[in-house]
Order: sequence, then C-alpha cells, then structure tokens
Amino acid sequence: MPSAFQRRVERALADDFLRMAVPQGTFRDDDARRRAWAELGAAVRWRERARRIREHTVRHLDRYLALAAERIEAQGGRVHWAADAAEAAAAVTAILRAAGARRIVKSKSMVTEEIRLNERLEAEGFEVVETDLGEYILQVAGDRPSHIIAPAMHMTRRQVRAELSRVAGRELPDDAAALVAFARERLREAFLAADAGITGANFVVAEAGAVVLVSNEGNGRMVASLPRVHIAIVGMERLVPRWEDLGVLLELLARSATGQKMSVYTTFAGGVRRPDEIDGPEEFHVIFLDNGRSRLLGTDFQEALHCIRCGACQNACPVYRRIGGHAYGGVYGGPIGAVLMPLLGGDGEDWGELPWASSLCGACHEACPVLIPLPELLLRHRRDEVEAGRVHAAQRWAMRLWGIACAHPAAYRLAARLARLLPRSLVSAALGAWTAGRDLLPLSARPFHARWAAMRTARR
Ligand code: SF4
Repeated sequence: MPSAFQRRVERALADDFLRMAVPQGTFRDDDARRRAWAELGAAVRWRERARRIREHTVRHLDRYLALAAERIEAQGGRVHWAADAAEAAAAVTAILRAAGARRIVKSKSMVTEEIRLNERLEAEGFEVVETDLGEYILQVAGDRPSHIIAPAMHMTRRQVRAELSRVAGRELPDDAAALVAFARERLREAFLAADAGITGANFVVAEAGAVVLVSNEGNGRMVASLPRVHIAIVGMERLVPRWEDLGVLLELLARSATGQKMSVYTTFAGGVRRPDEIDGPEEFHVIFLDNGRSRLLGTDFQEALHCIRCGACQNACPVYRRIGGHAYGGVYGGPIGAVLMPLLGGDGEDWGELPWASSLCGACHEACPVLIPLPELLLRHRRDEVEAGRVHAAQRWAMRLWGIACAHPAAYRLAARLARLLPRSLVSAALGAWTAGRDLLPLSARPFHARWAAMRTARR
C-alpha cells in the first residue's frame, strides 16, 4: 500500500497546474539568485564568511542566547523559553490573556507554522489575521504554505480571486492590482483593531537584543509596532552575535531568496516604546523555541541549524520543482525540509521517507548561501534509516550486491554482461516505480571500460 508521502507525490504529479506554476516561480527566483550573486561578486567568499558566522553561532548557542536574553530584558522586554510547541503556545496564550488581548495580527513566520500556532490560538478563542499577502490568501483558503518565501506559489490568480471574492461577498475584478487593493483594505482594518502582534524573527542580534524582521510588504513592521503587545517567536538558532555579522547575512538573504539586493523593509524591534517614541509596543516578549533543535547540537546534523530560511535550495531542487512543497507534507519542504522534518518531527507522521526524495545532484548545496552540505545530511539520514533496519529487504540486498560489484572489477564486469542478457521487460518490472515515469535505456553493447581501454590503447 502506498505511504502517505507516496500518495501526496502522486497527487502533485497529477496536478497539471501545480507542475506548471511551481517551476515558473522557482526558475524565476533561482535565475534571479544567480544574477544577484554574480553582481555581488566574490559570492564564494561571502558564503564562506556566512557559513563561519552560522557555525560559530550555533557552536556557542548557549552563550549567545544568554547574551540576547540579557539585552532584551535590559530594554524592557521579557524573554520566555519554550521546549516545544505546546509550551510556546501556552506562553503566547498567557501573555495575551494577561494583556486582555483578543484580536491578533501576524506576520509571516515559518516557526509559527511549525508549531501550528494559529490553530492553537483559534481553539482558545483568539482572532488571528495573517498580514503577509500570501499568508492571508492561504488563511482565507484554509490552505498551508508550500514554499518558505513564496507561501502561495502553488495558487493561480483565478483561485486567489475566487477566495478573496468569497471574503468580499461580491465578485472581485480579475485584476491583480484590484485583488491586492482589496486585501490591503481588509488588512489595514485588522492592523488598526489589533490588540497584539505576533512575528517570527529572521535573526536576533545577540549583542543588541534586537529582533530583525525582513519583508517586502512592510507588514512585519506594522505588526511589531502598531499593537500594544508584540510577541516574537524565535527558533533558538536564529541568532547572530554582532551587528556586523548581521550585515553579512543580510547581504545574502534577499539575494538568495528572490535576487533582491535587500528586502524592501528591514525592521529592528528592540524593546518597549520609550517615552520619546511615537510608536512601538507597551509590552515586548521574545519566546525562544527549542522544539527539537537542541537535540541536534553535537550530532551529525548540527549543520542543519545553520539554515537562514532563504528558500534557495527549494528553488534549485529538481524534485521540488516537479512536486511543490505540499507533497513533502511537513511545514518545511524541499531539500532543507527533507533534512529537518525527520529531525524535528511533528504532525504525528514518520518523516523517514523524505531523505530518499532526492537525486543527490547537489543543486541544493550549490544554491545554499551558508553552504550547508544538504546532500551529505540526506545521506546521513539514509544511513541511519538503513542502520535502524527501516529499509526494505530487497533494497538492502540490491545495495549490498551493488557494493560488491563496485568493489570488485571482475564481479562488476560479470554483472554488466549478465544484465545485457536480461530481457528489458524483466528489468523494467524489477525496477517497478522507477521506470513507470522514465524510459529504461538499453545497456550499451560495448561497456564503458572496454571503450576506455580501447581509447587508451589507440593513444599509445
Ligand atoms: S538550507 Fe540553505 S538554501 Fe535551503 S533554505 Fe536553508 S539557507 Fe536557504
């Protein structure tokens, strides 16, 4: 019986629009990233610097978390520590109740998706409005993000129009500007009525205790400054030690995500409103979330914590481009999702199949601004799956035989000779799903090593 993951993939592959829409977005952003890196110049050096910053930060996370907490509290903020999704949601609920807040505006935040915060808050009677345009559309459609940066990448304008028309109670024009204008009007009302704003954080600068939010729509800034309470929920690894480290990462973040030199808005939220300031919250809370992250420290997977959530690996991945983010099932899709989901867990699903959904072509590593060795991490997952005996016996035997053939030239030649004798229909049947969507090319009558030997002889 096909697994839940296989069923999701089947669905995605059968969705013609999705297979057209996702590549449109991913190819565009991937091309834009390449151009932006070329314009920046010395991209390899920038990326190496960024990698060192992330490595240093994660290695000394305890020190920088303590420093950030001290600086946030020195500015009148309050720091909370959440071990998991339930603790984070409980902390948010307690803050909102104590402040008498009911109406909440939110900016886009993957970490709040990770802990399913909206569902939890709505179950407690709070009214939550997403204010990023893509997230707002998904919220009214009852859908979930399919991409780290472009959450509604999988939706058509027609679908968006239908969803917003339903909210409006009238048929909206088939015009992108008109649809955006409608959403903006609704969101302004939500901003003005909100008691509290919830954001994630792209980074927290430890030496300043500053929460950094980058966005193209400016909604993050309004969520953080208009309501009287601001709550930032931060994955505990999203720190940078100093302002100058932030500068390096900001040089790469927007370029890697969308090819922009900078996102349109970069907001620094640092504490409560001071007497001489005209806006800002009366209460400022930062919730540092663990949710499985600390388990990765000191393991083979620590580098997964270096991720700055730019989405570049998703845009580069030939698998993601075909099936989109929903097929992965977890909140994080694409290569980084295939690494993170089995580690972080969640949603009661076993994510052990995800690391196999990769050709290991290396495109994700080439695209990653902080040089996370994603193919290696995927291989480490596969190794763990094999060692835990969670791989089908036929696959284990096939790999064992392949290993013997590769280690012994004579065995390899014999196997190649035998393979040429087998009828192709039999080989196709044996490879099952692999050949269902691909042609099985016939084996060359003359094997490569024979041609190689002949070429070397001819050169002498
Ligand atoms: S793994 Fe690298 S490329 Fe992928 S989202 Fe994270 S930082 Fe970006």
